Amino acid sequence: MQYSSQTIESVIEALSSLPTIGRKTAQRLALHLLRRPQEEVARLANALLAMKDNVAYCSRCFNLTESDPCPVCMSPKRNQAIICVIEEPNDLMAIERSNEYFGQYHVLHGALNPLDNIGPDDLKIKELISRLDDSVEEVILAMNASVEGEVTTQYLTKILKTLGVKVSRIARGIPVGSDLEYADEATISRALQGRVEV
Ligand code: ZN
Repeated sequence: MQYSSQTIESVIEALSSLPTIGRKTAQRLALHLLRRPQEEVARLANALLAMKDNVAYCSRCFNLTESDPCPVCMSPKRNQAIICVIEEPNDLMAIERSNEYFGQYHVLHGALNPLDNIGPDDLKIKELISRLDDSVEEVILAMNASVEGEVTTQYLTKILKTLGVKVSRIARGIPVGSDLEYADEATISRALQGRVEV
C-alpha cells in the first residue's frame, strides 16, 4: 500500500534501497522512527552523516578508517611481511576477533563475479600487487567459501605466484557457502593455522 504522505513514502523508498531491507521492513522502520522522539531520530541522522564525513578507506590496505594509514597498518607490533587478503572490512574484524593473526591486511571490497560483471578492475587487486615489494614474504588468501571467493582465490593465486611471493589459502574450516564474518573465532583460528601453500 502507498501512504498518503509523500514524505513517508520517500523514507520508505530510501530504506528499502538498503541491502536485505524489503518494502515491508522499510515500512515498519519508517513508522517506528516516526514514533520515536525527535532527538533520537536526529542522533541517527547525524551519526550517518558523520560516518560519511569521517570514514574513508585506508590508502594502503583499504580498510575503513578515520585516520590514514589506518591503525592496523601503522601498528609497530604487527608483522609487515604477511598480508592477509579479504573481501570486506567485516572479515578483518572477524579475523581480529580470533586473536590468531598479527600481520597486515588487504581488503579487496568484493570478489570476482563474472555473472555480475565484477572483474579484477572493480576490486583493489592492482593496489594489492603494488604493495608486494621485497619485504612481503607471504600472502594469505582468506576469501569467503563461495563460488565467487573460489574464483577470486584461483585468479589471485595465478597472478601472485608469477610474482614469486609465497601464497597460501586458509584451510577449509569455514563451511562452504558461508561468509568469513559469520564464522566463530575458533573456526577462523583453525582455518588460519591450517592454511596451506598453493
Ligand atoms: Zn590500513
